[in-house]
Amino acid sequence: MKFQILGSGGCVSTPKPLCGCGVCKEAREKGTPYSRCGCSLYFYDLNLLVDTPEDIGVALNRADIKAVDHILYSHWDPDHTMGIRVMEHLRLEWLSYYEGIIPENPVILFADPGVMNDLNLIRNRQGAFLNYYENLGLIKRFEVMDSIDIAGVRITLVSVPKRKAVSVFAFEKDGRKLIYAPCDCRPFPYDIVFYNADVLIIGNTFVGDVLKNGKIIDKDHPLRSELHSMEDVLAIKDRFNIKRVIVTHIEEDWGKSFDDYKELEKEYENVTFAYDGLVIEL
Ligand SMILES: [Zn+2]
Ligand SMILES: [Zn+2]
Repeated sequence: MKFQILGSGGCVSTPKPLCGCGVCKEAREKGTPYSRCGCSLYFYDLNLLVDTPEDIGVALNRADIKAVDHILYSHWDPDHTMGIRVMEHLRLEWLSYYEGIIPENPVILFADPGVMNDLNLIRNRQGAFLNYYENLGLIKRFEVMDSIDIAGVRITLVSVPKRKAVSVFAFEKDGRKLIYAPCDCRPFPYDIVFYNADVLIIGNTFVGDVLKNGKIIDKDHPLRSELHSMEDVLAIKDRFNIKRVIVTHIEEDWGKSFDDYKELEKEYENVTFAYDGLVIEL
């Protein structure tokens, strides 16, 4: 299996517009891997995209992606869905539309029923965006209960036990396994499918106890109940006997540059930090 991190950024991408901090200045000057688009993943084997942050079009072009046949959504949060108009960029041909020609290969959009329900609530005065795109023939929606098999790949959707609908994904092929848990995955769900994974890509994690502008995340800080600490990530790695962990959804607020993360990696065994353009083959 082959994956690429198209975007490793968090709710706020890096550089943050208007921000004059050192991390953002450097990202503006140098571009990738110092800059980070919104959080998304591409899976080459199925031409599959996970999530569409608002800068997904930029990320797809930058990575020179040639095809998107499937889109999988983890949850409705704006930092994962506000690029939903990419459906138009991917399939809409206005001039053909006026001739009554509809796309022959709509993008197949998958989500857990709860997540799909939330996606259908992204709407304007005329109704859901996704209804409009399906009516134009740009997409087809499918709800996935537990897992789906496509071209020799099994994708399992595991729900995070919280009030809002969020999925964590397991991709399996030829005895290899990658788990993608980009956001809102605390508490981390339990599922037998996670055991012995080759790779876990996890977001929803704050990195370090001292963040941007020297902000200290002490023992009682509310961030600790919302996000995983690095210690939590290591516990998840141990619990499920996962070989390698890649931390993604990296916030500008963590106040660290690409070089800082490279340095930090030395403190951990088989834990690295994502950057835009990182390719993972297993
Ligand atoms: Zn900044
Ligand atoms: Zn997020």
